[in-house]
Amino acid sequence: MKLVTCLHDGKERVGALTESGVVFLPYPDMNTLIETASPAQLRDAARGETVPLADVTLLAPIPRPRQDVICLGMNYVAHAEESARYNNRAFSKEKPISVYFSKRVSEAAAPDTGIPSHQGLVERLDYEVELAVILGKTAKNVKPEEAGDYIFGYTIVNDMSARDLQTGHMQWYFGKSLDGFTPMGPCILTADETAFPPALGIYSRINGELRQNSSTSLLIHTIPAILAELTQGMTLLPGTIIATGTPAGVGMGFEPPKFLKPGDVVECEIENIGVLRNSIV
Ligand code: MG
Repeated sequence: MKLVTCLHDGKERVGALTESGVVFLPYPDMNTLIETASPAQLRDAARGETVPLADVTLLAPIPRPRQDVICLGMNYVAHAEESARYNNRAFSKEKPISVYFSKRVSEAAAPDTGIPSHQGLVERLDYEVELAVILGKTAKNVKPEEAGDYIFGYTIVNDMSARDLQTGHMQWYFGKSLDGFTPMGPCILTADETAFPPALGIYSRINGELRQNSSTSLLIHTIPAILAELTQGMTLLPGTIIATGTPAGVGMGFEPPKFLKPGDVVECEIENIGVLRNSIV
């Protein structure tokens, strides 16, 4: 099932995508749905009346995450290499450890909206297509072989990054957390719709030019490994979003770098989930 959050007649609704539109589901928001709905209840509710897609405006599937998004840095080999080439001091990784950081998201940006370029503050604006994992239940001391049971579904996150702020401070938090820096969507693909761990094509295009082209099967630290490691002493709640890292081909990876500018159109795509398209304004 593909789940969306959308605006209809000025009201925020959650729904299931069908071939011809959206069936609204009886939950006040996606976080409540994730926390309370069983798969059987969702299947029943999704048999309702379909509203045409043209009559709704898609929002990010989780417009207001309850907590910061947990992110992995340098979790694809070729991206770790291009990052170290760009700035070895900021991105060198001497040991094969997982790199975690956090991203403040007061409001996730909707598909087909503008990403602010923050001119005057940011000169090196960059994109990162990522598979985001959404947890469906409270997770503590998860065994790797049980990790799949904790996954509610998957979506696409564009982990927008101000490289000058990211490398200019001792921490990535500021450069990853500016307003509009977390486009998300277009939908949540529920976990039952794909293999675990998911092995899906992952791509980004800028103004139609293919920049990133990889597979989520190439994560260095896999989803079971991430969940097992993080929940060793940290309880993760339903609705937690984990962005699993980006493959090679981000703007800073090119020589010379290809940073974003106003007017650029960024498309992030993951097989079976869809295309998340935003423009830089
Ligand atoms: Mg990232």
